[in-house]
Amino acid sequence: MPGRFAPTPSGRMHIGNIYAMLGAWLSARSRGDDMLLRIEDIDEPRVVPGAAELMMDDLHWLGLDWDGDPVFQSARHDLYREALHCLENLTIDDAYDSPFDERNDHTPAVGSAANNAIAGTTPLIYPCFCSRADIRAASAPQEGDRFVMYPGTCRRALAEHPRQVEQRLANGDRHSLRIAMPVAGDARAVVTVHDRVFGNCRFDLPRDLGDTVVRRADGLFAYQLVVTVDDLLMGVDDIVRGRDLLRSAALQLYIRERLLDAGFGDSSDGGVAAAHRDIRFAHLPLIDNAAGRRLSKRERSLDMGTLRKHGVTAHQVIGYCAWLLGLQQEPEPCAAADLLHGFSWDALAADSQDRSIPDDPFSIGL
Ligand code: GLU
Repeated sequence: MPGRFAPTPSGRMHIGNIYAMLGAWLSARSRGDDMLLRIEDIDEPRVVPGAAELMMDDLHWLGLDWDGDPVFQSARHDLYREALHCLENLTIDDAYDSPFDERNDHTPAVGSAANNAIAGTTPLIYPCFCSRADIRAASAPQEGDRFVMYPGTCRRALAEHPRQVEQRLANGDRHSLRIAMPVAGDARAVVTVHDRVFGNCRFDLPRDLGDTVVRRADGLFAYQLVVTVDDLLMGVDDIVRGRDLLRSAALQLYIRERLLDAGFGDSSDGGVAAAHRDIRFAHLPLIDNAAGRRLSKRERSLDMGTLRKHGVTAHQVIGYCAWLLGLQQEPEPCAAADLLHGFSWDALAADSQDRSIPDDPFSIGL
């Protein structure tokens, strides 16, 4: 079953991105599996024109190949819409054997959140009228990943005043859609991510994640929904990426299960056969620069454009990333294919501290 590269085309790739790509490629290819490329360009405001083409060119140059045509999220809105409609048919109270499994007609339930609430059930997907400022003011600060824990304001409003919520929807008030986490004590509330670097990581969904946005107030489908839909439909079962997404893995497993409960993807070939298998995750330590700041695409110094322009070779870049992955003792130049034999996550698992690298690791006079 395949692995995937899933870059966001928001700028030129840097050493930190290449290190994750190399890990993903080695993980899939060392088992003789396919490697898929998905361009995560759903968040249009973040997309930089031409960045996807440069990423593909950089991957070719590095010797990191993939199978088939790249999948562009921007061409998959209909699938995300269908997935969301499936989830909107569920309530949080639905057991694993949801009655919707049989019905499976994917009918969008207009205003279903308010209707469910009026009927006394908690909808799995509900509208949230809170602004970011509202949420920040009401939430405890979180660790440095992408989560701001939602305090549940609109979930409570829906339970207590469903008709007001219905009225706000009818008025066209701006809102996002959130997925409700199970309540504490529900068997679905605790999810264990089996990670080859960080071991078995247990997350309590209501306590560690909270209700999360699946469609943003600007109408765009959110990362957590689209990535789950795509991995499911593409049959991906090997996911390698930065450890800032470790907590997201628990949420994505939860969304995946709910999509399967709702019968989503039943007609797709291959995807759902894979869906019931365990997903192999490897979340990687993050890479900081010498000043301790996480490498970002905004920092040009270690990006592929700069490195290639200064004559750094593909083998130097791969060798450096292999060293970051713990696959060689020194950052010696090598080809990606040289690393396939005997590839393992063991060294990284034994030392999973975030890494920091100097500002000019290839001594090109930056
Ligand atoms: N597109 C995401 C990123 O570039 C990665 C998402 C994922 O691997 O799940 O950060």
